[in-house]
Amino acid sequence: MIKKEFIASRIKDHESNIVTKMWNIQSKLKNVIAMGRGDTDLDTPRHIIDAGIHALNNGATHYTHPMGLLELRQAICKDIKINGGAQYKEDEVVVTAGGQEAMFVIALGILNPGDEIITVAPGYNPYFQAAELAEAKPVKVNTYIENNFAMTAEAVEPLINSKTKILVIINPCNPTGAVTPYDQILKLADLAIKHDLIVISDEIYSRLTFRNHKVQPVAALPGMFERTITLNGFSKAYCMTGWRVGYFAAPKNLITHLSELHHGFAICAPAVSQHAALAALQGSQVCVENMKKTMEERCKILCDGLEALHIPFSEPQGGYYVYANVSATGLSASDFCVKLLEEGQVIVYPGTLYGDHCDDFVRFSLTQPVNKIEEAVSRIMKVVSSI
Ligand code: PLP
Repeated sequence: MIKKEFIASRIKDHESNIVTKMWNIQSKLKNVIAMGRGDTDLDTPRHIIDAGIHALNNGATHYTHPMGLLELRQAICKDIKINGGAQYKEDEVVVTAGGQEAMFVIALGILNPGDEIITVAPGYNPYFQAAELAEAKPVKVNTYIENNFAMTAEAVEPLINSKTKILVIINPCNPTGAVTPYDQILKLADLAIKHDLIVISDEIYSRLTFRNHKVQPVAALPGMFERTITLNGFSKAYCMTGWRVGYFAAPKNLITHLSELHHGFAICAPAVSQHAALAALQGSQVCVENMKKTMEERCKILCDGLEALHIPFSEPQGGYYVYANVSATGLSASDFCVKLLEEGQVIVYPGTLYGDHCDDFVRFSLTQPVNKIEEAVSRIMKVVSSI
């Protein structure tokens, strides 16, 4: 009954959903600058594509080991370690069809009906949906622009009770670009130990941090390995959204049944994509450095434009989004997005997708080249000055 209600409410949401509405409007327009979805215009680096083609030509058309190719899992373990993370073993990693699959496998595999999962808001909304599908309660820890949307232990602790099972840390955060400060990660880890919580540390944007901001991998902290699930993927840093390959890493006691569940969901991640992901990790990392520079440059152009338009935003510390407050226009976030799309042909997403207290905010994705971002800023200016 609950599952049926969940699905019915999702279908209803889908029909009245602002994103569906905007896609419908967009399909009738010819010259839209797409800064909505978290999928860059940049193609997968050539050597990764070539590895995929090579793999296909050499028989990578079959299922792989359900947990993923052994060489890939070994490369993932090495990569996590050299980036300051924990020392995982190859049988503590499951390669999934994107980080998104990992999220649902973890929620359905760990949460019982009535359990609670604390997750940041504004934050990546599939965590809320995964919790609901598991008949658990997503409890949102609100973060605010005044504090650069930092997730703090002080805000989390009052939300913990005997039903709380999981704490999600998205670092850097989508949609705010906030990197959880090191001192807060330590305090959040202490909370997890004190209250016996499992932490999902979503580090999918961790290679894309700006200036001196750095992500502290949670599983590497004392006492955290045994209670942390590290979630990551290739979509963002290696521009591989369409390949659908990600992973989670967790201690043996958690991984065994989660791996079984993943087998039930997907059997394995696409073989070709796993070979491409292996090339991503084993090849030169210059492409990631370039990606980071590109995002920083785009971010600056957009932030300068928003500043000139007196639209407040929190300067991103990583990721590829800018989260800005459009309340001065007098419009709700959804109305602003629809107007900007209809009159300016720029698509951005309303903050309400990411948190209940976000009706003043919109998310800009840095998914367009600099000249298009400049064009988007001038279109926004025209729309805003017409209000
Ligand atoms: N985690 C976060 C915070 C994201 O923003 C996304 C996608 O936007 C994902 C995980 C899932 O990405 P993918 O399934 O492409 O690996």
